[in-house]
Amino acid sequence: AHVTFHVAQTKKWPWSAPGVVRAVNGISFALEAGKTLGIVGESGCGKSTLIRAVAGLTPLETGHVTLDGQPVAYHDRASMQRLRATMQMIFQDPIASLNPRMTIREIVVEPLTFFRPEMNAKDRQDAALAMLERVGIPSSQANRFPHEFSGGQCQRIGIARALVAGPKVLLCDEPVSALDVSIQAQVVNLLKELQREMGLAIVFVAHDLGVVRHISDDVLVMYMGAPMERAPASALVRDPQHPYAQALLSAVPVPDPNVRIAPQMLEGELPSPLNLPPGCLFESRCPKAMPKCREARPPMIGRGAHQAACLLLKDAPARADAFAE
Ligand code: SF4
Ligand code: MG
Repeated sequence: AHVTFHVAQTKKWPWSAPGVVRAVNGISFALEAGKTLGIVGESGCGKSTLIRAVAGLTPLETGHVTLDGQPVAYHDRASMQRLRATMQMIFQDPIASLNPRMTIREIVVEPLTFFRPEMNAKDRQDAALAMLERVGIPSSQANRFPHEFSGGQCQRIGIARALVAGPKVLLCDEPVSALDVSIQAQVVNLLKELQREMGLAIVFVAHDLGVVRHISDDVLVMYMGAPMERAPASALVRDPQHPYAQALLSAVPVPDPNVRIAPQMLEGELPSPLNLPPGCLFESRCPKAMPKCREARPPMIGRGAHQAACLLLKDAPARADAFAE
């Protein structure tokens, strides 16, 4: 399956403020089988809204998602059925995302009932138990309920439910943020193994670049709903171009002694999402801001796969040469 998305705008109504917030503003991507796109940014930057819009869980105001070249029609049942058979999601709160009144066996059988009607009941049960075993949950525990498992185990069960019917794309919304650090790497490694086995395309959303860089082939850095930088993960970590990406990276402990980045604290207020400024969205917190940064939204520029949206790059073509991989 080949999935592309261009999310021009989503709607989101905050409880705290009147009016309509556009949580996402102009993000496009194509997903490749076997590859991971990491999406990173602070909480509230629109990254969850973006993937929820792609999955059809949040209204997409303008934009389009295509599946094998065909546009997804979110109001059409057949189109949604096709989307859900192809694209599944795992969530930040693994326990809350599982129905507390169903056994984990029933939870993992359910998608097969929807998406694999050709299978008989016995084969569905066997497939569900095999999938549970594959994610590390012994089938002897299949008749237990979600509350009888730890957060890490519940996330494994969520992964089993998402993958049991053989989707091609897995959208992961902060899948390890709620887990102990010692468990995070196990879940990330499980996702990587399953990706290799199934040829999955993964979108991995997190606020922590330290987690995203290890699983991602490409990384998109978002701020206030908009793209700031996108690059192969190695290039982003070695040579971040956007001041916001540099600040995010400075918060990540770097094991490589040749890479030295002084930790940066971001000061300044975020703009109101109800009233975004016409210039660079990062201007109010950017340590390198100039007066002209307030005038217009900087476009994404750069070489090939490595692009960033900052006026400093536009004025410094020699610097943009550093983009070459
Ligand atoms: Fe900072 Fe200006 Fe670049 Fe925005 S455009 S990131 S304010 S230097
Ligand atoms: Mg979120």
